[in-house]
Amino acid sequence: MKIGFVGLGLMGRPMVNRLISAGHAITAYDVSPAAFDGWTAPPRKATSLREMSSCEIVILMLPNGSIVDDVLFYSGKLASALPEGSLVLDMGSSDPEGSRARASELAGCGIRFVDAPVSGGVNGATEGTLTIMVGGSDALHDGERGILEVLGKTIFEVGPVGSGHAVKALNNALSASSLLAMAEATESATRFGIEPAVFVDIINKSSGRSFSSEWKYPQFVLPGTFNSGFSLSLMTKDVATAVNLCEQLGLPALALRTAGEAWKKASGSLESSADHTEIVRWVARR
Ligand code: NAD
Repeated sequence: MKIGFVGLGLMGRPMVNRLISAGHAITAYDVSPAAFDGWTAPPRKATSLREMSSCEIVILMLPNGSIVDDVLFYSGKLASALPEGSLVLDMGSSDPEGSRARASELAGCGIRFVDAPVSGGVNGATEGTLTIMVGGSDALHDGERGILEVLGKTIFEVGPVGSGHAVKALNNALSASSLLAMAEATESATRFGIEPAVFVDIINKSSGRSFSSEWKYPQFVLPGTFNSGFSLSLMTKDVATAVNLCEQLGLPALALRTAGEAWKKASGSLESSADHTEIVRWVARR
């Protein structure tokens, strides 16, 4: 199967490595020339998206839905290069409503679109243990499911197209809310004179625990590395996507909107490359 891959960032690169190790021939494209530096077994480099015209599948691992639109329909024009019957698999965290629109526009060109965003981070991408949430899985052929199995360990067929992206945005909104709340609680404890490590230990044996307290604090916050591999700007985008979704569905989203506003403020005052765990230091400085 000829596979194209667009977006060789923190997630895309280890995903391509896994696909190559599994024996797939990959043609890859990225706007950043640095994306092709430092590979042991590099993919074939495409200098334009038109070079994907013979691909049966193109996997997208891009920052957001607007960039996916740009790649497919505007400056990239990938949709007009791909053959009829091909598949676009959007594995990045795009907006769910946009994905429905993309699916219907591509269907007009005879191209299938499936959203298959992931959780599990750079470690999961490297180890092939991602959780994959598939929207519109009915459109997948058998061999195409096999590709997902190279990349992930747990594959959920969520529902119609866009539903994978809806779940992904809502998951990250929950994760962002819990990290923000944990940062505020830990900072309060610290200002009260309690050792942060002691506080985190107690929370992790109590009902306030979460993935943030059990994984992100011990791994990235308490050791002061702040290097989870997931940027603050991408997390802020995901919370905003979830809040928009709630509002489109007529739900006021009080908790998620409050969290989203804080993430947006942090994003405005930190470097665009800042890791999302930097929200903890941002809270502490306030
Ligand atoms: P990243 O910023 O490291 O990588 C994005 C890549 O896309 C970059 O190499 C960039 O040059 C490339 N790119 C941007 N615009 C492009 C264009 N027009 N054409 C071609 N290439 C373009 O981001 P990432 O952390 O790898 O995340 C990618 C997606 O996966 C995002 O949607 C993110 O929300 C999602 N995600 C990330 C993680 C994580 O832990 N990093 C986990 C799950 C999901």
